[in-house]
Amino acid sequence: MAVYNPKSLHAEEFINHEEILETLAYAEANKNNVELIDSLLEKAKPKREGNGYRCSGLTHREASVLLACEIPEKIEEMYKLANEIKLAFYGNRIVLFAPLYLSNYCVNGCLYCPYHYKNKHIKRVKLTQEQVRNEVIALQDMGHKRLAIEAGEDPVNNPIEYILECINTIYSVHHKNGDIRRVNVNIAATTVEEYRMLKDAGIGTYILFQETYNKKSYLELHPTGPKHDYDYHTEAMDRAMEGGIDDVGLGVLFGLEGYKYEFAGLLMHAEHLEAVHGVGPHTISVPRVKHADDIDPSAFDNSISDEMFAKIIACIRIAVPYTGMIISTRESEAVRGKVLDYGISQISGASRTSVGGYTEEERPHDSEQFDVSDQRTLDEVVRWLMEMDHIPSFCTACYRAGRTGDRFMSLCKSGQILNCCHPNALMTLTEYLEDYASPETKKIGYELIEKELKKIPKENVMNIAKQNIEAIKNSNRRDFRF
Ligand code: SAM
Repeated sequence: MAVYNPKSLHAEEFINHEEILETLAYAEANKNNVELIDSLLEKAKPKREGNGYRCSGLTHREASVLLACEIPEKIEEMYKLANEIKLAFYGNRIVLFAPLYLSNYCVNGCLYCPYHYKNKHIKRVKLTQEQVRNEVIALQDMGHKRLAIEAGEDPVNNPIEYILECINTIYSVHHKNGDIRRVNVNIAATTVEEYRMLKDAGIGTYILFQETYNKKSYLELHPTGPKHDYDYHTEAMDRAMEGGIDDVGLGVLFGLEGYKYEFAGLLMHAEHLEAVHGVGPHTISVPRVKHADDIDPSAFDNSISDEMFAKIIACIRIAVPYTGMIISTRESEAVRGKVLDYGISQISGASRTSVGGYTEEERPHDSEQFDVSDQRTLDEVVRWLMEMDHIPSFCTACYRAGRTGDRFMSLCKSGQILNCCHPNALMTLTEYLEDYASPETKKIGYELIEKELKKIPKENVMNIAKQNIEAIKNSNRRDFRF
């Protein structure tokens, strides 16, 4: 029997089934232990340190107790604490991005995904470089600066050379004042050499969802194809880091397995990365299974309510305070609006989940991966964020300025990231307002920027921001490396 060891490089030792079962039993036994819950909430509070804050986070066992807790007042306290941590490390900024689907050819048999190879009626599409260029122009015309590229797994149709060529094309398009400054990559688990090639191509985060941490369920849900190999999939982030990628993004597809099991597994994975590589995940995504062509989400009996979804997000924020959290347009405006306060730091906007979707007028598209709930335009999403006092940020400076991996984490841990991110957010928002916003959004945007400029006491940093904001308004120069 495998023994739990977060430092091991073997999936069954760092995501250890017995340890998860014991964690769930411990959480169940302590779910109404007020004294323990109070001590965990106290432990997880941000503590002032120098100019910033320090946060201890919680272990997977401790956080699982919070997730299991059923005492309404304590759950309220969790939401407050999650919000406090969010504001301490991320401020009121929300980073925006869009997915770009390159190809839906896939050789896997995933039961929840319409791209599975047995689906003979979904339209299979693979973008040519000319089509990639047109999609990127459409995305730049909306104002996007950051993309997450997506592709099915198919070594013949979508080999690494194709992905690299697409990344190159994306970075090469400069339409009007637009450019894509950060390309994150969500492709199937691969080898160290291929991760190195992605790193050399200048990618931002490598994202790979675990789907489920429960090995038995994983094997059933991925009955055929290379993705069937649970260990290879689970150990992918270690190979990515060995290949030099220091920002990796985790996620589970909620609804496939019991959420308490997934929650513990996710945090164990984060602990493992920290223990082995000295840096935890850059982001955690929280997708839920959605209806899609030939996929009925009710076929999976572990769906979670919106309330439980919000609680999971708050508990992740408390457990891993320095990790960004992403929510996609799988979720509705109402759900997204609610969880922004509990620790989400990145959202997608105006997403199309079909291959070629940004240049197609009509929807739904017949190559879509799943239904999109939030179908608003980017301008509407930006305005909506600002009306709730969040600052939409199009900043991508960190990785271009070398603030990745443990450098980013140590700046984040000392609270210093706020000094870079806040002015950067305001400057890139100014770019957006000047180049792409509707008059109404522009008006609200400049009111918010004025308010923010007054609020922040860091005079020196904000003076630089002020000068840059004026420069953006008065010129077409767009080569800031904030
Ligand atoms: N082929 C790559 C892989 O295997 O990881 C890329 C993944 S796919 C393009 C992106 C993610 O969409 C998957 O990891 C999965 O979690 C999610 N997904 C698939 N089907 C879905 C559905 N019906 N509803 C919501 N999300 C889904």
